Amino acid sequence: MSDCIFCKIADKKIPSKIVYEDEFILAFDDVSPQAPVHVLLIPKKHIATLLDVTDTDLHLLSHMVKVANMIAAEKGIAERGFRLVTNCNPEGGQVVFHVHIHLLGGRQMMSPFG
Ligand code: AMP
Repeated sequence: MSDCIFCKIADKKIPSKIVYEDEFILAFDDVSPQAPVHVLLIPKKHIATLLDVTDTDLHLLSHMVKVANMIAAEKGIAERGFRLVTNCNPEGGQVVFHVHIHLLGGRQMMSPFG
């Protein structure tokens, strides 16, 4: 999608610090990290929100979770613990309308959620 910032990152039209890439997904550092480890995982295909994930695309989400686990292990936070977050729509805190998973770790996460 031409005006989507994450599509532009996936197309390398906007630079990012890529952590992982394959045919289906991309993982890159969040530009405004909220934790020592803050990586975003996106499908390369434009999907606006979690509500727009079809049965055909469900495999992308499971793949993103699998890769998030792998990145957490590589960054040495898997055993200590980490958090995966997906915001959906404005009240869910979603700002960029290209579905993504935040991988957050490297510090104690707070609960309850804000
Ligand atoms: P959300 O509120 O769930 O939509 O999260 C969007 C995230 O995208 C925020 O954490 C932003 O810091 C991050 N972000 C926005 N633009 C960029 C960018 N160009 N490169 C990396 N992260 C970005």
